Amino acid sequence: MRIGIGYDIHRFNGRRPLKLGGITVPFGRGLAGHSDADVLLHAIADALLGAAGAPDLGELFPPGDARTRGADSRLFVRAALSRVRRLGLAVGNVDATVIADAPKLGPYKARMRRSIGRLLGLADSAVSVKAKTTEGFEPKGLGVAAQAIVLLESARGSRPEARGKGRAHPRATSHELRAARKRVR
Ligand code: MG
Repeated sequence: MRIGIGYDIHRFNGRRPLKLGGITVPFGRGLAGHSDADVLLHAIADALLGAAGAPDLGELFPPGDARTRGADSRLFVRAALSRVRRLGLAVGNVDATVIADAPKLGPYKARMRRSIGRLLGLADSAVSVKAKTTEGFEPKGLGVAAQAIVLLESARGSRPEARGKGRAHPRATSHELRAARKRVR
């Protein structure tokens, strides 16, 4: 078993849709970022990568990389999941918290869970999305933060010796990116 933690925070930027957990949350403002700025998926991708002992999301997909400008962040989670699977590991469960004073996320938690579950091939019951406000403290309504923790288990039938073999590319390869993109279409 392995465990990983991820955290991310993005500032509001008025001109974009608000993407959280792979869904669009109706709100007057979106988040600033090189990709679609889905802060929750970024935290989950980093938790997966951390648990796998892989380079973090910023190393795999450096900010400013032309290949991921405006990208659907589901592809980052898919790429992280591929790294996990290559090690003979499978995701057991994911627990995440989104921290934002606005918008109110309660009505969207179930859809976020389903979206993340679909992305990771997990039942909704293995995915938790909690929503917290800061009661007016940080981040003072300036953006949205997210935390995620994941548990990885040995994939059924996998050979543990597959773990850690081969050179880990610090940056996502074009092949990896293409494959992840295909899977989110
Ligand atoms: Mg981010």
